Amino acid sequence: MGKQEDFVLRALEERDVRFVRLWFTDVLGFLKSVAVAPAELEGAFSEGIGFDGSAIEGFARVYEADMLALPDPTTFQILPWRSGEGPATDRMFCDIVMPDGSASYADPRNVLKRTLSRAAEQGFTFYTHPEIEFYLFKDEPRQGEEPVPVDRSGYFDHAAHSHGSDFRREAITMLEAMGISVEFSHHEGGPGQQEIDLRYADALTTADNIMTFRTVIREVALNQGIWATFMPKPFTTHPGSGMHTHVSLFEGDQNAFYEAGAEYQLSKTGRQFIAGVLKHASEISVVTNQWVNSYKRLMFGGEAPSYICWGHNNRSAMIRVPMYKPMKGQSTRIELRTIDSACNPYLAYAAVLAAGLKGIENGYELPREAEDDVWALTERERRSLGIEPLPKSLHDAIAVAEHSELLAETLGEQVFEFFLRNKRAEWDEYRGQVSVFERDRMLPVL
Ligand code: GLN
Ligand code: MG
Ligand code: MG
Ligand code: MG
Repeated sequence: MGKQEDFVLRALEERDVRFVRLWFTDVLGFLKSVAVAPAELEGAFSEGIGFDGSAIEGFARVYEADMLALPDPTTFQILPWRSGEGPATDRMFCDIVMPDGSASYADPRNVLKRTLSRAAEQGFTFYTHPEIEFYLFKDEPRQGEEPVPVDRSGYFDHAAHSHGSDFRREAITMLEAMGISVEFSHHEGGPGQQEIDLRYADALTTADNIMTFRTVIREVALNQGIWATFMPKPFTTHPGSGMHTHVSLFEGDQNAFYEAGAEYQLSKTGRQFIAGVLKHASEISVVTNQWVNSYKRLMFGGEAPSYICWGHNNRSAMIRVPMYKPMKGQSTRIELRTIDSACNPYLAYAAVLAAGLKGIENGYELPREAEDDVWALTERERRSLGIEPLPKSLHDAIAVAEHSELLAETLGEQVFEFFLRNKRAEWDEYRGQVSVFERDRMLPVL
């Protein structure tokens, strides 16, 4: 038993923890949880807790269903919303292993860990800082009804006693109680739409934090009698919810994207990383934007990207190099604006990192930056500038992903196959639906 494990076992006793929740994430990004009694934990640390992997989306083929959840003691945390009076509850994230002790190929956390070790072999640590957007509705969603947002405010609006700011205050307090630092929060552009930005951390910690974040936000909403959603585009006429992520690579304590005196302080490594993410953007789109609905966010402007390009401080570009503060080299980073709030963060960050590393390994040239508002250009102008569109639908995204070596390699064969099969099924079910749009348009005239 290691030091960390000992610490957890002692904390369980001291805090009178009666339930230990073991968390892991399925391939589509849904959080799974199994509660065990504290007495089981010592065994869980050494052998794992067995479960039926074939019952979890994307985890196992039926003939290899037995899997084990192995708690990661460094992620131990008391759950503040279950710890008022009475005994406490805690959570730990788990790694999923096979009965022979090898890492499960289907575990998204393992997909990210594998990609992070590839980066580490080249001397890099991958840091991420997500800006998470979501909507708050007055009630639980009801089938066939348009949801009602909790307020009518807009970008950065401050309204006294507004639902949004009360909500953000409670949510942030709870996040901080769980060791997740929040840097920034505000009302977003849509009615009822909020944004909360987490402090940067290594990508594995960030992905764990995002899973925790979604749970905390939903818990706080339920407590307040409202509803939170991370759906990428809940309204036709209001902006979608993105999860812009600022990323950088560090070599030791040096920011590898930083070069004093270079244009935008961006090193060759930084430029090659951007070039990699741009070149492979379409292939990894099925992971960064995994739902039918994701593509509706990417087509209407609303500060969500539709085209593959980068720009310095250009909010219409897919990758933005934020305005830099001279003398602040260590904060050099790039902002990726495609990812949405309903992605599986482990897979999305693994795919982005793999694309960026490809750019570095193969010395990709960075294309010219987009200087204009790319939505305002004509199709022909964009073409002459070499600016390609992102996939326009889940169908298009699947079609490119199917041929992507990079994606197959990064996800591993099992996740790659399951994921694409699942996405094809989603698309087929969707395209068979007769929509309100069609009825409203056609019944009166046809
Ligand atoms: N909501 C926008 C998106 O979907 C972003 C708006 C913003 O952060 N400026 O990407
Ligand atoms: Mg922001
Ligand atoms: Mg925002
Ligand atoms: Mg942003």
